[in-house]
Amino acid sequence: MGVFQNLGVEPIINASGTVTRLGGAPMHASTLAAMREAAENWVPIEQLQGAASNLISEVTGAEAGMVTSGAAAGLTLGAAAIMTGDDLGLMERLPQTDGSANEFIMAREQRSGYDHAVRASGAKIVEVGFNEIVSGAGVRRTEIWEYEAAIGERTAGIFYVFTNDSVPPLEEVVACAKRHQLPVLVDAAGELPPRSNLRWVVSTGADLVTFSGGKAIRGPQSTGILCGRQKLVGAAALQMLDMDDHPELWQPPEELIQRPAASGLPRHGIGRGMKVSKEEIVGLLTALEMFVKGEYVSDLEHYRSYLQTIQEALAPTSTNATIIESSDGERWPILEVQLKDPQHDAFAICQNLRQGKPPIYLGHGKLSCGILVVNPVCLNTESANILGQRLLEEMS
Ligand SMILES: *Cc1c(COP(=O)(O)O)cnc(C)c1O
Repeated sequence: MGVFQNLGVEPIINASGTVTRLGGAPMHASTLAAMREAAENWVPIEQLQGAASNLISEVTGAEAGMVTSGAAAGLTLGAAAIMTGDDLGLMERLPQTDGSANEFIMAREQRSGYDHAVRASGAKIVEVGFNEIVSGAGVRRTEIWEYEAAIGERTAGIFYVFTNDSVPPLEEVVACAKRHQLPVLVDAAGELPPRSNLRWVVSTGADLVTFSGGKAIRGPQSTGILCGRQKLVGAAALQMLDMDDHPELWQPPEELIQRPAASGLPRHGIGRGMKVSKEEIVGLLTALEMFVKGEYVSDLEHYRSYLQTIQEALAPTSTNATIIESSDGERWPILEVQLKDPQHDAFAICQNLRQGKPPIYLGHGKLSCGILVVNPVCLNTESANILGQRLLEEMS
């Protein structure tokens, strides 16, 4: 019996990828070994975050960086840091922000459930532009003048969600923000690979950038990166780290935290509930180094073979199963199975597979188009075989 069965929970076959709901990315054996070693030794967490800052700077080109409890925590802490700077009084008041600059301007079409993480800091979101393409009402996307027109006394910064398709381009939004001396906070949580994005997003001049640690970096599911200007990353670190030390003994790592100009130390901040353990920090840094060196690229061949196994299993059916390769050659391929009866089958098959033994979770992003998606990153030879057979049963 395994750890999950002992608790009465049945392990699943995850064909849905590195999604949070199903437990995130597969960690490499070296990452797990590093976490185990970290668990058996002790270090001051702020010194470890200082070391993290050095490595994150090296691989992103940012002035400083830290490990957060996921990209979403990076958004809360990033928004907090932008609103407080190194003002201890403002830090202490969060999430109360009445009377100070607390507005983040963002494109309406970039809004998602993750914005809650920005609002959790006490920030208010001010929407600009429309979502005319989705609403079927027009062809235009958000335009720079719309950001510019929304800037006012209460504006703290601009919040931007980066994807390949984001409009206006990040560089133009950063240039607009600079004209008004405003910082830009960027959510790039899922935009790796390509590995080059680690540097590219920071190189636009964006002030703070978050990436998930538990997606393609394949670190612990509960980790992320917040990187950017040292002053802001330092203010974020001060609001996440445990602050229970004597001011006269406290020695923050200089690469990460500049001692607040005002005398005194902040108390536990808005991010104290988002703490990251030494094992998680070491796990993320180990995984990050492997990701940056391209050590996961050789796994793509295995992923392709799992998808081919499933494709071959489905050959006797008349469904159309296509392997879709990524254009950057770094992201894993996926398999799309187009069903014949688009209205009914996809949801029913998905549900039957979830309720089978072992439970199988397919990618569910295209069910309403009658397409089942197989993401291979959490599969192996055995689970790919089982998945192929179960799919064949469901379709025969
Ligand atoms: C995954 C994701 C997040 C959240 O990242 P976590 O590391 O799970 O906290 C935020 N924004 C976007 C766009 C994401 O895809």
